[in-house]
Amino acid sequence: MSKFVYLFNEGNSDMKEILGGKGANLAEMTNIGLPVPFGFTISTQACNDYYEAGKKISQYVEEQILAALKTLEDKTGKKLGDPTNPLLVSVRSGSVFSMPGMMDTVLNLGMNDETVKGVADLTGNARFAYDSYRRFIQMFSNVVLGIDSYYFEQYLEETREKKGYHADPELTAEDWQEVIAGYKEIVKKHTKKDFPQDPKQQLFLSINAVFDSWNNQRAIIYRRLNKIPDHLGTAVNIQSMVFGNMGSDSGTGVAFTRNPSTGEALLYGEYLINAQGEDVVAGIRTPQPIHVLEKDMPEVYEKFIATCQLLEKHYKDMQDIEFTVERGELFILQTRTGKRTAQAAIRIAVEMVKEGIIDKETALLRVDPEQLDQLLHRRIDDSYERKQLAKGLPASPGAATGAVVFDADEAEQLGNDGKKVILVRPETTPDDIHGIVASQAIVTSRGGMTSHAAVVARGMGKACICGCETLKIDLVGKKFSVGETVVNYGDIITIDGSTGEIMLGEIPMIDPELSDEFLLLLSWADEVRKLGVRANADNPEDAGKALEFGAGGIGLCRTEHMFMDPKRIPIVQEMILAENYEERMIALDKLLPMQQGDFEGIFEAMQGLPVTIRLLDPPMHEFLPDKEELLVEVTKLQMTDPDSSELKEKEYLLKKVNQLAEFNPMLGHRGCRLGMIFPEIYEMQAKAIFNAVVTLIDRGLSVEPEIMIPLVGHVNELKAMRQLVVETAEKVKEETGKEFNYLVGTMIEIPRAALTADQIAEEADFFSFGTNDLTQTTFGYSRDDAEGKFLQAYIEQKVLPENPFAVLDQQGVGKLVETGVKLGRQVKPSLKTGICGEHGGEKSSIEFCYQAGLDYVSCSPYRVPLARLAAAQATI
Ligand code: PEP
Ligand code: MG
Repeated sequence: MSKFVYLFNEGNSDMKEILGGKGANLAEMTNIGLPVPFGFTISTQACNDYYEAGKKISQYVEEQILAALKTLEDKTGKKLGDPTNPLLVSVRSGSVFSMPGMMDTVLNLGMNDETVKGVADLTGNARFAYDSYRRFIQMFSNVVLGIDSYYFEQYLEETREKKGYHADPELTAEDWQEVIAGYKEIVKKHTKKDFPQDPKQQLFLSINAVFDSWNNQRAIIYRRLNKIPDHLGTAVNIQSMVFGNMGSDSGTGVAFTRNPSTGEALLYGEYLINAQGEDVVAGIRTPQPIHVLEKDMPEVYEKFIATCQLLEKHYKDMQDIEFTVERGELFILQTRTGKRTAQAAIRIAVEMVKEGIIDKETALLRVDPEQLDQLLHRRIDDSYERKQLAKGLPASPGAATGAVVFDADEAEQLGNDGKKVILVRPETTPDDIHGIVASQAIVTSRGGMTSHAAVVARGMGKACICGCETLKIDLVGKKFSVGETVVNYGDIITIDGSTGEIMLGEIPMIDPELSDEFLLLLSWADEVRKLGVRANADNPEDAGKALEFGAGGIGLCRTEHMFMDPKRIPIVQEMILAENYEERMIALDKLLPMQQGDFEGIFEAMQGLPVTIRLLDPPMHEFLPDKEELLVEVTKLQMTDPDSSELKEKEYLLKKVNQLAEFNPMLGHRGCRLGMIFPEIYEMQAKAIFNAVVTLIDRGLSVEPEIMIPLVGHVNELKAMRQLVVETAEKVKEETGKEFNYLVGTMIEIPRAALTADQIAEEADFFSFGTNDLTQTTFGYSRDDAEGKFLQAYIEQKVLPENPFAVLDQQGVGKLVETGVKLGRQVKPSLKTGICGEHGGEKSSIEFCYQAGLDYVSCSPYRVPLARLAAAQATI
């Protein structure tokens, strides 16, 4: 019989897949002798078994649970349901990948009308015993019986009011007994049954509920967001309870061994005296900073610090630790790798190398390339004088501007409509996750740096301010106020998550600067990686950015972007509308010096690094006015001014637009097909490139341009276009008397080109895989329409695992890339190969490119740091 249940001393931290993250770490901590309350873990396989059996715990699993329970009882000397010495346990979920707050937990299980008396006698604290019992009823009823907590909270509030109390600590043991009676009425009313008194029944119902919570809506959304597979299942941890709410020598808290927001190597945490664990995480009471514990309980604090250091050293990573102090005794309830912002991830990784805890390669693997995006975003311009409206805790860095909303559903709706919103709530709960996803930033008035909102926002890289207590939020009136100032639903605010400041209106932002640690980490990435990283850039500013971010050259300069300049459009149109070669040449002669200037600027910015320039690609009609608009104008003029020259011009334009119109322009007269039919256009571009090269040589700079022919499908196209470029180069050399080197290569973006890459390589000095078009033509999906029409549904229905325009389809499109590289290198072993489609900036695609043997990836300048890191990770 397989093993489904493991005592804490039977597991270790390598067993995450079986025990879940929490269970594996509880086992590990037990083994290294830390004060962990004893218990056992029901494995993730038991969860899958539960679902396979039609949501039922099989008998063999039940038997193993009961056997483990017996051991736990023997070890603690307590017994579940024993009125004189009752065992109380917590029942917690624990999946392989941490999903904070997404699934269910039940605390104080084992309480009933009899055992509560035992707890009262044993602790000599009847108030505590009855408070714990009512907490259990509330939690169990909510999680297991599905009764909304609201009914219990409302009842408690009424009781408090009736008795003239302001807060819970004022309630006596007798008061809590009264509340318990009321709670039981609520349960009876909703379930038509009495609250279950049998602790074993309570236990199994709770285990079922935790298994069920694997498939609650918020857990499903969280998994989708974080790409966690659905089949993993959750483990369930049964652990004997310790109590942080037994008086002023008790407490509970959460601490990170380093600051999760900035990465600073200082213990960072919060705790609440006389409270139970969930109070901290749920953000219901705003806790005290951890150093207050030093004052309250110096010995416990010392022991806790030593434990934190030990755990960080043991796991060699920043830990997020939950602890409870019961009557002066410290217990560790959980440790896990702490979630952190990109800034913190980098600082921690770099400093741990300096401290000799990890090596450089491990440090490189510690930072998720996708997270780097957070650091490359704009931030508030410091030269602007800030008028601070309120200040809370700086829970997650970054700046954001948006309209205030107070409800997660509303945030989702507006966010999906493309509106920028900031979600403002007293606190957030896991049920708000969809609204958080759709918001630019989160603000809460309650809760600390480890509250739900803070943890989730940091995980998503969203700016967040927590515990901003000066904010008086009126959810019904849809407004909040700070002193005299009232901010209504829809008003614009700006927040700075790095300082905790909230400001009215929109505030200017500036470009980011890269920290020293960031630059150091990237330099380590450069030492390791074997894959080159270039940028897609088509003007000197972008080229400069690319260089600043560490690009080793330009992998794609789309020359059509230079044609789109509003000042040039009339000349481009003149070229398109030309009736014959001579007329076209007049327009091209005007464009030539402009293009030459562009190339000079880019070459200069790149300081001698390679620059790949792609000749004109899109269909001509893209440079002409919209057909429908033109038709309206012509009709209007026909009615108002039928003899005007303007009408004649517009009619002519319309005729040309009609002539150039295509049913499938993406499969039409574009790319090298333009060069084949109008060679003078490509000739002008080649001439502009070579003239620019000569100008730079004259100024003492060296340049070796790489000229790239787009959309080649047949070797004869490349042959003709290459000849044109070579002849143009020869002419420029002759005219100027200057020598220079250059390469002529092609994009591989049509399946036929990949399949005949051996023939194509004969004519090419390099290949650059244009995986945008290659994806379009391999799937036969229009890259301009598919996403809006059916791709989203395909992904939701799991027809496709990802959007293939964002993440390279390795099995199909990737096979063409591999084929292209293999065939090309058979003919030309030194053939230079790269990728310049959007996939060049996506981490899994970058890894694929490395495996496929490409020489470089090229992506947008802002993704260059990501690509450098991902390229290093692919090598390690
Ligand atoms: C491509 O098709 O992948 C490519 C880089 O070219 P463009 O996106 O300009 O068509
Ligand atoms: Mg293309």
